[in-house]
Amino acid sequence: MNATRPPSNRDLQGLSGEEAARRLAMDGPNMLPGTRPKTFIGIVLGILLEPMFLMLLVAGVLYLLLGDTAEAIFLLSSVFVVIGITVIQERKTQRALESLRDLSAPRALVLRDGQELRIPGREVVVGDLLILHEGDRISADALLIDGQLDANESLISGEAVPVAKLPGTASNQLLASTLVTRGVGLAEVTATAAATAVGRIGEALAATEEPRSGLQLASRRLVRNLAVGGLSLAAVYFLVNWLWDAHGLVESLLASTALIMAILPEEIPVILTVFLALGAWRISQRKVLTRRVPAVEALGAISVLAVDKTGTLTENRMQVAELRREDATFVSAGAEALAEPFHELVEFAMLATPVDPFDPMEKAIQQFGMHWLNGSAHVHAEWSPDFEYGLSSEILAMTRVFPVGGSTQHMLATKGAPEAVVDLCHLDAAGAKRILAQAEAMAARGLRVLGVARGRWQGETPPHSQHDFDFQFLGLLGFVDPPRPEVPAAIAECRAAGIRIIMLTGDHPATAMAIAREVGLSERADVITGAQIDTLDDPALLARLRHVDVCARLKPVQKLRLVRLLREDGEVVAMTGDGVNDAPALKAADVGIAMGKRGTDVARESASLVLLDDSFASIVEAIRQGRRIYDNITKATRFVFAVHMPIIALTLVPSLLHWPVMLMPVHIVLLELLIDPSCSIVFEAEPEADGVMQRPPRALAESPFAAGNIAVAIVQGIGAAMVLLAGYGSILSAGIDVTHGRTAVFIALIFGLFALVLANRHPDHSLVARGHMRNRWLRPMFLGVVLLLTLAISVPYLRHIMGLSMPTPVIVAGAAIMLALTFIWLEGLRLALRLSARLKATPLAR
Ligand code: ADP
Ligand code: MG
Repeated sequence: MNATRPPSNRDLQGLSGEEAARRLAMDGPNMLPGTRPKTFIGIVLGILLEPMFLMLLVAGVLYLLLGDTAEAIFLLSSVFVVIGITVIQERKTQRALESLRDLSAPRALVLRDGQELRIPGREVVVGDLLILHEGDRISADALLIDGQLDANESLISGEAVPVAKLPGTASNQLLASTLVTRGVGLAEVTATAAATAVGRIGEALAATEEPRSGLQLASRRLVRNLAVGGLSLAAVYFLVNWLWDAHGLVESLLASTALIMAILPEEIPVILTVFLALGAWRISQRKVLTRRVPAVEALGAISVLAVDKTGTLTENRMQVAELRREDATFVSAGAEALAEPFHELVEFAMLATPVDPFDPMEKAIQQFGMHWLNGSAHVHAEWSPDFEYGLSSEILAMTRVFPVGGSTQHMLATKGAPEAVVDLCHLDAAGAKRILAQAEAMAARGLRVLGVARGRWQGETPPHSQHDFDFQFLGLLGFVDPPRPEVPAAIAECRAAGIRIIMLTGDHPATAMAIAREVGLSERADVITGAQIDTLDDPALLARLRHVDVCARLKPVQKLRLVRLLREDGEVVAMTGDGVNDAPALKAADVGIAMGKRGTDVARESASLVLLDDSFASIVEAIRQGRRIYDNITKATRFVFAVHMPIIALTLVPSLLHWPVMLMPVHIVLLELLIDPSCSIVFEAEPEADGVMQRPPRALAESPFAAGNIAVAIVQGIGAAMVLLAGYGSILSAGIDVTHGRTAVFIALIFGLFALVLANRHPDHSLVARGHMRNRWLRPMFLGVVLLLTLAISVPYLRHIMGLSMPTPVIVAGAAIMLALTFIWLEGLRLALRLSARLKATPLAR
């Protein structure tokens, strides 16, 4: 039976504001014990287990064994710098995630001082009156005192079937954290926070571990493989050094430790965590809340955006614009009075609607009725129905059953989709056809159309379905719901960005088409309905979907099927939705998007993004940010791989060629101290490239770790390494002292590192062009490079442990030549790549 008993006596007051505040202070906030942020100790422990850190310690100890206390002290104290940087990064990430979590905290609608009030769920206290609607997550344990609803308690009982709740019976208990799947109700809070049933279960439910994204997993694999490779290489290198070249044991160990430090790309996982978390935070600044951080990654790849009509494309602020009864039409704009024949139509439309509705369309009906009929005998605000048949996906109509006169006499009022109401009226074919043609004509002008009917019924137990009643058709209601002003521009932007927009709606096909045309969603005069979709098998439906952008009269299961099918076809699908029924499709989409103000808790919880301002333009903004973040991850990855090449080469090659050692662990540590922040700060802050929204979405196969991207990095880095090695070799063969030679190469290397940052910003930006300052972190980084170098050379202690010297003019000239050659190499490579990218649009075009 799908009849419900609606709430009636709303003359309740609820708690007073002061009383609620007093109870809140006494009982504490209504919060389940959640995940605590990582502690300082936790962060430090995490660092201690990092391979890079262990290498630092090993190198420090080895230096001690060699008796080089100064170097040992330098290495061991740089440990604190590494910890410092990591703690700052972690804190920043944590704060970003926490502010997101605060924004997504649930809210509750309560009755206080006789007023409906929307408050954060954590401010709910015992004794509060909760007003519950379909789709709400119940914020505390409560007793249902009015209304009737179904609750999904699977979270607690494991039982997936919703449980019916009735006031004044044994099944009047509502549990915190469970969901209202149907109906409305008023409930009195009996327990909050840890005293609730879910609170007593323990903390397990509250712990929400962020799932790792595809990129994060891929990066872990990559880093692990590289680490294994690096260790094997270092082992061979150690044996060669020790046994073949007869270096001392400790010295050989030190050399291979340096090699491991040079190879380990430990920046990569850091880049991903920091970029995605800060990215989510940046996106929240644009009024889009990221509920699942990995979604940031998918955002930039979206190729299909499936939107619902009502509330996403339109304002969802409905108004009754037109009435139609047989051959008479009433247009409300400019009308003086409502002609008598329409009174009955409006009367029954109102009766078929709750007196104090939630739904904007129903609000519009009540407003319209009160405007034209207030005070007349057609308004029955005090009538309260015995039963109600809710809207279902089988019958798109709702009927309310009122007792009149004798105890078994009932008046019926129904409203719903025209074809559903016509069906309930059991009309003959000609009559039905005439009405549906009228409805179609109204819908084609963009109106949302409802049919209204009246009926009588005598009996005690209402039938199972509304279908078993007999109705008399009264007429049609046409609602205007204007498109949101920002929508046409945002849709145009999506299309320029190669993103296809598809409308999924439960509304009439003609209404859907009219709105689609109005906002510029589609030029194709084609629409497919849920009924047609059901007749097609998957391949046929896919083929059809290539030619149609508007899907109307869809049931939720059909939305889900469409989303799944598009994904199987290789599209990255974003979908907007706000109803309880939309939840499965929202979950199935790559990026589910829910509305923050409107829309149900269920939809919000199933979505990975929530639009805090309900604005369609925010979706486009989020996609733009998603693309920027992905580009920046790609750029930073390229930089990390490139920069490791000269470091590895300068560690390995001199010793293989029996030249004096060039790079020692101390140098590598110093370089790492520069590389880390350049990735996580400079590249993270890199502004988007011009035209990010004028290119098609990235291909699914594309990845920052794809061979193409890494190959470019390796070629960049090897070129720079060859310049530096050649420079080192020439200086040594000119008979110049090693410390001088090392100084020249070190200067060129550190500035070369900066050149690699510039080279990886964008293939369209020349290394020497202006415009680099659009990234506000480049200047500080350059100053940092200069400062670090100055210190290393001018502080005698540092100069000594680094094996450097005060540079002579010859040395400066040598460094300048190496640096110039590095620039020329990188710039030449950039031009060559850009040329080939132009020739065959490759991913390197970003
Ligand atoms: P949309 O995709 O536009 O949000 P819905 O799935 O909410 O569409 O509604 C589908 C259809 O169900 C509407 O076009 C309307 O005919 C009918 N309908 C929706 N809400 C009500 C209601 N409160 N009373 C009667 N009929 C309704
Ligand atoms: Mg809807």
